Amino acid sequence: MSEKLQIVTIDGPSGVGKSTVSRGLADRLGFVYLDTGAMYRAVAYGCREGGVDVEDEQAVGRFLQDLHIELLPPKRPDDDVRVFLGGQEISGFIRTPEMGMLASKVSALPVVRQKLTVMQQKMGRAGKIVAEGRDTGTVVFPQAAWKFYLDADPEERARRRINQLTLKGERVDEQEILAQIIKRDRDDSERTIAPLKAADDAVRIDASRLSAAEVIERMFSFIKGS
Ligand code: C5P
Repeated sequence: MSEKLQIVTIDGPSGVGKSTVSRGLADRLGFVYLDTGAMYRAVAYGCREGGVDVEDEQAVGRFLQDLHIELLPPKRPDDDVRVFLGGQEISGFIRTPEMGMLASKVSALPVVRQKLTVMQQKMGRAGKIVAEGRDTGTVVFPQAAWKFYLDADPEERARRRINQLTLKGERVDEQEILAQIIKRDRDDSERTIAPLKAADDAVRIDASRLSAAEVIERMFSFIKGS
């Protein structure tokens, strides 16, 4: 068997707290945090801004030819990573529920997955990263040394997402957020390539009744004890 890489993967459905946990764990380990969802969101945003029809895989393929995505650490520790598309910062536009739905749509296209998977593998080449997403343990980094699958009840995830959006000052329709979470997870799980699922060798954690700090602690202890 080939050697395991110093990589932590954290996969799971939307709204489960992966970003907070991944960022916190990366800090604790002194690793770099790789937010793969931000890359799918950047593609979705670029398609929308460029008037690219996301139903037309060839058109999306042409858009991807000049794709230039850059992820930079946030200015404040608790913020999301900063995302640049073609040199322009788009961080403020991609974290909406609508962009999550569009990201889910473009992420089912083979041409998009191929492109982003290769980019992510390059970013992780040197190891010492915490990668977060849907397929990081199964497809992107199958050789990762530590794999986690984080889950929580849909209602709990909707409640957390609503809190996040409310804190940002956004008005939210609670029923709609829950419906979007359920639809996005179903689409992400049922797609044919790189569906959302736990790697066979992933440690599963149910975060429904755990704080982010508790989840980080469990993961950290597991890694240190392995
Ligand atoms: O994690 P986040 O909510 O930012 O991801 C947005 C969407 O991008 C997900 O719903 C999923 O469809 C897609 N995604 C993916 N594979 C990843 C990360 C995200 O398909 N590794």
